[in-house]
Amino acid sequence: MSTPNLSIVIPVYNEEATLATLFARLYPALDALGESYEVVFVNDGSRDRSAAILREQFEARPDVTRVILFGANAGQHMAIMAGFEHCRGEIIVTLDADLQNPPEEIGKLVAKMREGHDYVGSIRRKRQDSLFRTWASKAMNRLREKITRIKITDQGNMLRAYSRSVVNAINSCKEVATFIPALAYTFARSPAEVVVEHEERAAGESKYSLYSLIRLNFDLMTGFSLVPLQWFSMLGIFVSLGSAALFVLLIARRLIVGPEAEGLFTLFALMFFLIGLALFGIGLLGEYIGRIYQQVRHRPRYLVEAILERDTEQSS
Ligand code: UDP
Ligand code: MG
Repeated sequence: MSTPNLSIVIPVYNEEATLATLFARLYPALDALGESYEVVFVNDGSRDRSAAILREQFEARPDVTRVILFGANAGQHMAIMAGFEHCRGEIIVTLDADLQNPPEEIGKLVAKMREGHDYVGSIRRKRQDSLFRTWASKAMNRLREKITRIKITDQGNMLRAYSRSVVNAINSCKEVATFIPALAYTFARSPAEVVVEHEERAAGESKYSLYSLIRLNFDLMTGFSLVPLQWFSMLGIFVSLGSAALFVLLIARRLIVGPEAEGLFTLFALMFFLIGLALFGIGLLGEYIGRIYQQVRHRPRYLVEAILERDTEQSS
């Protein structure tokens, strides 16, 4: 299995409840494709029995299974990064461990890749998430598209296929907090999308709180674009022009009508609004500075505790 046709990269974080079903569906689906493949599981510092279950699976199918074990939780996208760095396939497919992306759909992506695309995203036919999640993610999709010019119809969906060259390009990036589908899109020459099924989470619960979803979207906006900063400068210009006009108006009023002492609360409202804007601007700057800070520290992005794989020297 020196270079298999397919590498399936799956991040796993506290998924002990779903792993057995995942194995039961994933391996037969891949066997049915009739391609050489490897499955690379990345255990993202799970605190439950996930690591032990992955180890058992490695022992059951060592020919096609590799497991990367992190020492601590580094996040879904870092886990995929590690998978990318270690996988060897020509076409690399990412998948969630919770079976929301049916493994039976992998064939569809691979077929599309073979048509000559180097990046195939997928769009969930009927999204099986809570109404709020679906709605919020649609809104973020639109905003992101405006800001970053990255065209991904369904950004939250991780069932995607990448060519070896795109994955190599991603591997050469040392970004700390990133969003893999967007990064891939910036490197792809010929991206495409297919429609796939989507299921409810098989078991367990979502690993993303509302907070981490918001964080993820910040990473997307500030990690791939300077437009928020530019918008903020534009806003600053407009507010200054508005204030200048108000100043002229008040001077004129004072000369013609005389001094005024009322309108105190209007002034407060205006002040609070402007202070709010200024705080938002400082926060926005902070987002970028924080990214720069993380990046310049050059800390390892994740710590690999162990890699379970068959000795590659023998088998190649
Ligand atoms: N995941 C991970 N590290 C994390 C959070 C999630 O590796 O810190 C994995 C998780 O095990 C799953 C995938 O990322 O395979 C997607 O997570 P989840 O299903 O919880 O996200 P949602 O579907 O709610 O967006
Ligand atoms: Mg999920």
